[in-house]
Amino acid sequence: MVNTKFMALGATALRSNLVHLRHPYKLTFSITYRCQSRCITCNIWQMKPVNELTIEEIREFAMKNSYFRWIEITGGEPFLRGDVVEIVRAFRESCKGLYLLTMPTNSLCGTAAELRKIEEILSLGVPKVSITVSLDGYRELHDRIRGIPGNFDRAIAIFKGLKELRKRHRNLFMVFGYTMSRFNQGQFARTFAEVRKEIPDLAYNDFHLNAGQVSDIYYSNLDLDLGVSKETAAGEVREFLKMRKPQVGAIPAIEGVFLRKLLEYIKTGKTPIRSRSLDASLFLDSYGNVFPSIMWGRRIGSIRSTNYSLEPIWHSREAEEVRTLIKAGKEPDSWTACEAYQAIVGNVSSFIL
Ligand code: SF4
Repeated sequence: MVNTKFMALGATALRSNLVHLRHPYKLTFSITYRCQSRCITCNIWQMKPVNELTIEEIREFAMKNSYFRWIEITGGEPFLRGDVVEIVRAFRESCKGLYLLTMPTNSLCGTAAELRKIEEILSLGVPKVSITVSLDGYRELHDRIRGIPGNFDRAIAIFKGLKELRKRHRNLFMVFGYTMSRFNQGQFARTFAEVRKEIPDLAYNDFHLNAGQVSDIYYSNLDLDLGVSKETAAGEVREFLKMRKPQVGAIPAIEGVFLRKLLEYIKTGKTPIRSRSLDASLFLDSYGNVFPSIMWGRRIGSIRSTNYSLEPIWHSREAEEVRTLIKAGKEPDSWTACEAYQAIVGNVSSFIL
């Protein structure tokens, strides 16, 4: 049976082709900038966050902005927050149309403890929960990129644990998130082979490929050079596209478009499809600041100064100015899954043609 919340999410996303939506349907929310990783591709772990939003503030925000149908809870490492389950519960209880919850993890919060938290989240009844387990290389390479000895084995352990959970919770989906950068270029095939030794039924569809990106606010890594050789990266994506099995459904279809457009992004460095920032989606940081996306540090307000309502920020002159810049193509170029999916669905004609 097709889930009515899925239908509503699809209808809202498609409507964004035709009209400016009254409310965004997707929230990307960094619940903490704390991170115990030491990635050479990202500077978030160097931050020393203080005064991040409390659970009471997050509950208030969820109550006053209850229209989200897709929430991406990210970090830092989201499972470092002891109240991560309560955060999800707050959105689940307030956002009656919530269909999809997506979360990444670096697998460093203790396998058993993290799986227990995920199982609690799954029991809250969000129709679809998707966990992305970060994995950027084979054992030595992943540990080197992430700066944490043993991280590869912990990622494998979490993924295996998720597969077990999936037997009891059919709303769970999981994928390895592989971020391409100059540190792992040309190494996807070896990585896949090594992971398959650990997980014999591993399929190519169990991976999501992403190109490493730089941003001023989120990754805070404008100083880092992630650039891969265009030929190598494009070759890896093309090979990956060939190996993925065709799957029925909206999300695999969108992922296919994401990958084909990733090729374009690698080649040109330009955003391949106009974003739907400040229309379909927004980025909320762990201090309550609102941005068009995780890729652009153009702050448009803070929920702490609007009593946790997004409405005054969403309809502000500042937001309108930023929308005008987006329409004029002035948003920084990027192609990341956090922003790309709503861009794909909200620009149907541009990828069909
Ligand atoms: S990429 Fe993820 S795990 Fe690595 S430092 Fe950044 S937030 Fe932490």
